[in-house]
Amino acid sequence: MIIGVLALQGAFVEHEQRLEELGAQSVQLRCAEDLQQSLDGLILPGGESTVMGKLLRELDMLEPIREKIRSGLPVLGTCAGLLLLAETIENDSRKHLATMSMTASRNAYGRQLGSFYTEQRFADDKIIPMTFIRAPYIKDVGEGVSVLASVDGRIVAARQRNQLVTAFHPELNDDTTVHAYFLSMVSEYKEG
Ligand code: GLN
Repeated sequence: MIIGVLALQGAFVEHEQRLEELGAQSVQLRCAEDLQQSLDGLILPGGESTVMGKLLRELDMLEPIREKIRSGLPVLGTCAGLLLLAETIENDSRKHLATMSMTASRNAYGRQLGSFYTEQRFADDKIIPMTFIRAPYIKDVGEGVSVLASVDGRIVAARQRNQLVTAFHPELNDDTTVHAYFLSMVSEYKEG
């Protein structure tokens, strides 16, 4: 199982560590050529969505990634990665990959609560650690999107078929629940 981790900017090394702990291989994606190899899944890490979106365009990576997602490749987007996938960002006129039917709100927790830690249930299963850093949340989801976690009534994790997003950073804690959930999506995709 080989997971491509977008490595233009932000917290990608920690994702690779989590994948390694689960026995999955990862490869860093830094240019359009890197997208030509065969991948079983894709991770879009946290960082700064505006910077990542700009780099994806400049490096001609935006369209090929969008194509892969549209054709069913499993993708995990965390924090800024969630914003890259959102069809609409309510407080930003920019759109990036825009493949997932949801409206996200950027830097949604304001200044005081810019970064915080909490624990909450994920996917009707375990209670897991959640680290938020200048995080977005999901304001609204479209058809076919299931909500996997909420904090104080705000949606912070969701899935639409092959797309999984979290507003928090699952790679920054020891817990591997979210990555394991993602790898089970990858296994289903490979088998299907
Ligand atoms: N605030 C960032 C953005 O708007 C996201 C922060 C993060 O990924 N930790 O893209």
